[in-house]
Amino acid sequence: MQGIAPALMEKPLIDPFGRQVSYIRVSVTDRCDFRCVYCMSEDMTFLPKRDLLTLEELDRLCSAFVARGTRKIRITGGEPLVRRNIMTLFASLSRHLDSGALEEITVTTNGSQLARFAKDLYAHGVRRINVSLDTLDPDRFRAITRWGDLTTVLKGIDAAQDAGLAIKINAVALKNFNEDEFASMIRWAHGRGMDMTFIEVMPLGEIESARVDQYLPLSQVRAQLLDQFTLQDSDYQTGGPARYVTVKETGGRLGFITPLTHNFCESCNRVRLTCTGTLYMCLGQEDAADLRAPLRASESNDLLYEAIDRAILRKPKGHDFIIDRVTRQPAVGRHMSVTGG
Ligand code: SAM
Ligand code: SF4
Repeated sequence: MQGIAPALMEKPLIDPFGRQVSYIRVSVTDRCDFRCVYCMSEDMTFLPKRDLLTLEELDRLCSAFVARGTRKIRITGGEPLVRRNIMTLFASLSRHLDSGALEEITVTTNGSQLARFAKDLYAHGVRRINVSLDTLDPDRFRAITRWGDLTTVLKGIDAAQDAGLAIKINAVALKNFNEDEFASMIRWAHGRGMDMTFIEVMPLGEIESARVDQYLPLSQVRAQLLDQFTLQDSDYQTGGPARYVTVKETGGRLGFITPLTHNFCESCNRVRLTCTGTLYMCLGQEDAADLRAPLRASESNDLLYEAIDRAILRKPKGHDFIIDRVTRQPAVGRHMSVTGG
């Protein structure tokens, strides 16, 4: 696996709007052991395995970004922990943590494989993970994930905490589905020392149900929570798009990710890489750059750096998500599982 050319360490990736790209999210597989109703259709067609980058190629791509100033990598998917031998990627990337080039490697997971991998993640330098969990009710959990089992995920969360991983629980706010659980989920998460974040559903990919029936503005959620909680403004930042408050009654942190009601693009510092080596400069736009061809064209990284530079110059100002009764089409055709959440 290649190291970092010191000469390039000084040349950060700056987009046309002056934002420095220092964070990359890498979707290591588009496959998943769940079929969450807002994320995937029930019978998804996945990429042929031969189209995937190998783990060595993913390492080389990530390392190229680290060389150009990336300080944070989030491994996501699909479900990242179902990719075969994925721990070898964590193991190899951990050298950038050891060298200080990288601040953090994090993971977003549905939790189904955490009981198996939590200790290894910690051993490879991961300290914080996001676990997606939309409900604490086993029947609802099965309904929303179609295939998931709540007990397995809760055991995974136990294992992750035992291993020393800090956890943030991410829940998508879904109208008429989990609205009545928000307060109890906050108490549960904070009671276990975990942060909690709510996310607005985004119009990504074709699914069976209408987005407008799922969409619940977080401005509304926040207003409802005020009946039970005192929400104190906080300047806590993780480098992600969440805005945080502290819940006075629990002492815990609560985040809101509001791509629809409050667009967070002006501070966007990230790009997203798919498991086939396609770089998306924005979650909510179609434009993308192929990095697989320059990666495979030569053993040197020169072509790759050129392709990355050209791509960053095309990073758009922001997305334009709309969910209403008139706009029936998703903002972009690809599912969140392709680009990585
Ligand atoms: N499988 C892993 C998981 O569920 O955490 C990682 C990938 S998943 C695509 C990442 C995050 O995206 C999850 O928190 C999921 O709830 C969220 N997500 C998926 N589709 C979404 C959508 N249409 N709108 C908002 N969030 C979505
Ligand atoms: Fe899988 Fe995550 Fe999408 Fe659910 S949200 S189907 S767990 S990729």
